[in-house]
Amino acid sequence: MALDSKVPQGPIKDKWTDYKNKINLVNPANKRHIDVIVVGTGLAGGSAAATLAELGYNVKAFAYQDSPRRAHSIAAQGGINAAKNYQGDGDSTYRLFYDTVKGGDYRSREANVYRLAEVSANIIDQCVAQGVPFARDYGGLLDNRSFGGVLVSRTFYAKGQTGQQLLLGAYSAMNRQIARGKIEMFNRHEMLDVVLVDGKARGIITRNLITGEIERHSAHAVVIASGGYGNVYFLSTNAMGSNVTAGWKIHKKGAYFANPCYTQIHPTCIPRSGDYQSKLTLMSESLRNDGRIWVPKNMDDVIAIREGKKKPTDLSEDERDYYLERRYPAFGNLVPRDVASRAAKERCDAGYGVNATGEAVYLDFAAAITRYGKEQAKIQNISNPSDAKIYELGQKIVEAKYGNLFQMYNKIVDQDPYKTPMMIYPAVHYTMGGVWVDYNLMTTIPGCYCIGEANFSDHGANRLGASALMQGLADGYFVLPYTIGDYLADDIRTGKISTETPEFEAAEKEVKEKIDFFVNNNGTHSVDYYHKKLGKIMWDKCGMSRNEKGLKEAIEEISELRKDFWQNVSVPGGSEEYNEELAKAGRVADFLELGELFAKDALVREESCGGHFREESAEESGPQKGEAKRDDENFAFVSAWEYKGEPKDAVLHKEELEFNDIELKQRSYK
Ligand SMILES: Cc1cc2nc3c(=O)[nH]c(=O)nc-3n(C[C@H](O)[C@H](O)[C@H](O)COP(=O)(O)OP(=O)(O)OC[C@H]3O[C@@H](n4cnc5c(N)ncnc54)[C@H](O)[C@@H]3O)c2cc1C
Repeated sequence: MALDSKVPQGPIKDKWTDYKNKINLVNPANKRHIDVIVVGTGLAGGSAAATLAELGYNVKAFAYQDSPRRAHSIAAQGGINAAKNYQGDGDSTYRLFYDTVKGGDYRSREANVYRLAEVSANIIDQCVAQGVPFARDYGGLLDNRSFGGVLVSRTFYAKGQTGQQLLLGAYSAMNRQIARGKIEMFNRHEMLDVVLVDGKARGIITRNLITGEIERHSAHAVVIASGGYGNVYFLSTNAMGSNVTAGWKIHKKGAYFANPCYTQIHPTCIPRSGDYQSKLTLMSESLRNDGRIWVPKNMDDVIAIREGKKKPTDLSEDERDYYLERRYPAFGNLVPRDVASRAAKERCDAGYGVNATGEAVYLDFAAAITRYGKEQAKIQNISNPSDAKIYELGQKIVEAKYGNLFQMYNKIVDQDPYKTPMMIYPAVHYTMGGVWVDYNLMTTIPGCYCIGEANFSDHGANRLGASALMQGLADGYFVLPYTIGDYLADDIRTGKISTETPEFEAAEKEVKEKIDFFVNNNGTHSVDYYHKKLGKIMWDKCGMSRNEKGLKEAIEEISELRKDFWQNVSVPGGSEEYNEELAKAGRVADFLELGELFAKDALVREESCGGHFREESAEESGPQKGEAKRDDENFAFVSAWEYKGEPKDAVLHKEELEFNDIELKQRSYK
């Protein structure tokens, strides 16, 4: 199939404006006759559902949680980017565009990214109007902080709860439409298939997670906003329920998947503590504004710390290796995530990890606390303050900025991060890959759209911090509501879509058969048994670095594991009741297919870029330590991207690589 990105002609800065001027519209009276299904009510789906309903469409929205407020978006901590240039530090639409494309190792579709940068400023205005309580400075103006890979402060935030506050804004907008009857909300409903009629997406099959009832829902278009699939690794910073099912089901019906192997491994997460852990916890990137990352310089100190004979605070400045500041003086601790993660792995692989497993580095706030404390002492006219007083004053400032994150760390690790450095290690966090979409955010299935983290569109090989919320809300509030009209303009006379058709019947039958299989299989192993095994293969062989031998092994092993799953999985309970194991079984079945595609995609990419770090060595498999193709000091990828062969499911088209507007040189963060 030839992909058509539908990127409009013309200079990049005019594309979106010109396009909107010429696009087909549906008049307000006709919108009343058109139904749209939105699967997912996180920031992307929630904002889309609210806006589509506000415009006049009839929206049916679905979420597997008991309320849109519980979407995984609620977990977002650090902030949301926008090119407002409130700090007067040189920011602009172009700079946000440039940083995003460069941060993604030049693998994103530039026209989409430029549009994203353009609408970013509108998002902040929209959210402020909704009452989102963004942090403000002393004078009452909106405050900003900085995130990795950029040299300006453009991140708007609400303490460490930005996602929650934005979600409450989108949820309020949705609620208004629910009250008006323009959104019908289906909580606790899981989409288990999409229904195509004459090749167009015309509905979905869902399971009511409380009663087990299988339902048919029709519409003129279907929007998938189901979030990311990082849980294919079992352990990730994602919510436990985050899954790929909606994206995978549309993929199996014809929606192409792009860059499935592009995964973001976030550098600052609380390290894994044992085999029985089911979740990893992020410590927001915003902490790198003030936290300094280091490991001991000397191996003797590493050993002494591991054995409990020394504390990190015993080490003097010159006994510490602030390796990011050393290697990247311009960006320091705020290099992009992929760069910071690989640097942490490099130090830990070299033996400098500071915890018992050897997989931890320090994130230290002592310098920031002292700096803020001295400033406060000056402001408060305290002459000759003692060290203790300075620390007390500085701690208050750090607490005001990051207090909830410090509390979270304290509760999980049982150490006080105001007094001793945090221990952190990279963990799976975000998936840049996803369902392929064109400029309209439509998938390769006509009438089926995909927005938010579930699509592949804007972040290339590595997402910059605070850009996911921006993308989800740009898609939902400002892009999809326009572009979907171009397609729906042809549907104003179609009338209601019936669910009493052979297509709905067949899709429902298939869903029911799978559910019947699970509850009747009486196998020997739990769903989690398979999910954990899959996660281990993914982490060891498709994790932070990958090589040919390991990837080939992964493909084999996942395929074997999948066979075993379909023979021996055990799902207790019945199908016509609340059955969390049954819901999980369906999701893990899809992860077992996605995992294989993921490894195949990684295998054909003979390159290193962003979240994909390809090693030359084919000798060893498992967590590898070989030479990387990538020039590790300059972080320049050394070969132009070339897609070898035409693997069945993995797609990244040449047209994604439009280097016409910015020069593809080196991605140097020195
Ligand atoms: C710990 C953490 C912190 C983060 N912090 C930041 C940050 O500070 N800044 C930033 O920009 N990004 C951050 N991110 C990333 C960002 O939060 C996500 O990328 C973003 O919120 C995803 O939004 P979404 O709407 O696409 O998906 P989600 O919020 O995951 O919503 C998915 C929706 O789909 C529904 N759904 C899924 N499958 C189905 C199905 N089969 N049937 C029915 N419904 C379904 C769910 O119920 C849910 O409503 C963070 C991520 C994590 C994990």
